[in-house]
This record gives sequence, C-alpha cells and structure tokens, in this order.
Amino acid sequence: MNIREVQDEILRLKKENDVCILAHSYQTHDIIEIADFTGDSFVLSKLAAQVPNKTVLMCGVRFMAETVKILSPQKKVILSSPTAGCPMAEQMDKAFIQRMREQYPDYTVVAYINTTAELKTVCDVCVTSSSAVQIVKAIENKNILFVPDCNLGAYVAAQIPEKNIKLLKGGCPVHAAVTKEEALTAKKLHPNALLLVHPECIPEVSALADYVGSTSGIMNYAKNSDNKEFIIGTENSIAHHLQYECPDKKFYLLSQGLICENMKSTSLIDVLNCLKGEGGEEIFMDDKLISDARKCIDKMIAMG
Ligand code: SF4
Repeated sequence: MNIREVQDEILRLKKENDVCILAHSYQTHDIIEIADFTGDSFVLSKLAAQVPNKTVLMCGVRFMAETVKILSPQKKVILSSPTAGCPMAEQMDKAFIQRMREQYPDYTVVAYINTTAELKTVCDVCVTSSSAVQIVKAIENKNILFVPDCNLGAYVAAQIPEKNIKLLKGGCPVHAAVTKEEALTAKKLHPNALLLVHPECIPEVSALADYVGSTSGIMNYAKNSDNKEFIIGTENSIAHHLQYECPDKKFYLLSQGLICENMKSTSLIDVLNCLKGEGGEEIFMDDKLISDARKCIDKMIAMG
C-alpha cells in the first residue's frame, strides 16, 4: 500500500471502531493528516475528554497518553508506540521529589506537564510551557521548586524576579542540546529571519530569540507575523508543518539535531496496526493514581 492507501484505511478503521486519533505536533506530516486533533499535549488531553469516542489513540509519548487517561478515565487510551517515552519526564521519580519536599518544606512544588502520572501525585500544581509564567505568578507562596526542566524554570524565573525559584538539574535533552553558537550561526546565515525558540532551550539560546514560547505559540507567531522568514527553535517537524501551512514564507531549522526520536518512533503503519488491534499499548492506571495525579492538573485548570 502507498501512503494514501494506508491513510484511507486508517480513516475507515477509525470510523468503524469509534476511535479519536490525537497527534502531537511533533509527529510526522502523514500522521498529522489523519488525526482528529493536533497540537500541544494538554490541549489534546482536554479535547479527548470532550469527544464522544470511547477509544482514544495518542500518537506521542507515554506521559501524554497518561494525561489523556487521567482526564478521561472511562475511555480506552492507547499509546501508539509502547517504546515512546520522554527522557525528561522520566528524569525524576516520586521518591526523589518526596525527599526534595522534606529538604524544602516551605516551597510550592510546580511540575511541568511533561512528567509521569506518578510524579504528579507528589506535586502541588502542574504547568504547561504556555501557562507556566501565569500560574507561577498566581501562586501565593514566594518559594517555588520548579521540576523537572531547569531551562523552562529559568525562563519563568526571569519573567517573575519577585519569586524565589529553585531549579534542579533536569530538562529536555533534545532542546537543551542546541548551542548558543548554533543560534548565532543560524542568525548570521538568515539575517532577515526571526528566531523563534521553545523555552526548553538553554537560556543562552533563548536570550538570542525574537520570540520565546510553546510549540503552539511558535506556530501562531509565525503564521500571524508579517515577517517572511523564520528560524524555528523547536522540534524540526514544526518547521515542516509550518512550511506546508505557509508556502509563501520560509522556515529554517535552528539545528539539524532538534529531532525527538521518541516522538518519531510512531510511524503511519503503527497507527494502522493500533486500529487493527495489533499494536500500541493500552494505558492502565488504578483509580487512586488517577485521582492523586489529577489534583495538580485540576489546580492548574483552576488557576489558569
Ligand atoms: S522533545 Fe523533549 S520533552 Fe518533548 S517528548 Fe521529546 S524528549 Fe520529551
């Protein structure tokens, strides 16, 4: 079968089996085309809770499928690729955060949504990359322990100097690998382009950006800007998607290395196999884990 035939078969099976397909924006274009919804992980989780479908297929990484399950416990949630983890989400475990809480008892623990369900059970509130500044600002406590991404945490801290934000060594290995030299070289090669960067990049890279924001923020900025050229400082698939959507503009990669292998471990054939019941992994979580993990997500929703 060629790509079009596989996509047609996916669309047929999705309808026949009453499945909603979610594709994170870092998925490849052939998967984005057959998805019901695409975007950032938390937005997808909220949309999945609203659709009538009894089964949700998450094309992304494990913590994203867990978040879908937390918000839709009655639904069958399938992760497209059982090996797709997020190295950042798995950097800190529950026991480590409990030790940190003992060491810093006066701190409010803020967890990036890119964490495991288990870790969320011992945090006070979640944030996304687009809501982080707003939520942290709204927390009454001056003392904040921000986990796990020290680069996003540093970006938040720079926006809210009145807070005492403690950071730990953690972060996205894909975004954090981009160097200041790569950013300077890209700017020199494309002097008319605006540099748009995800806050998971190191502060030295973010400091050179014309815009720092979430994946959706970067996409919206590029689409709405009058400028015609952009250097994209997040996972490279975003530059490809933007080029499809805005053929009159030019998009350059900040770094050839900005590829998340975990996000790319799902192929179109994996999606087809999941719909045939021959692939993927169903996410199972007990009721206590779901309700405990949900508390800090609900707090984020209430504060957002
Ligand atoms: S890009 Fe980074 S944060 Fe996102 S899934 Fe990959 S490793 Fe995790």
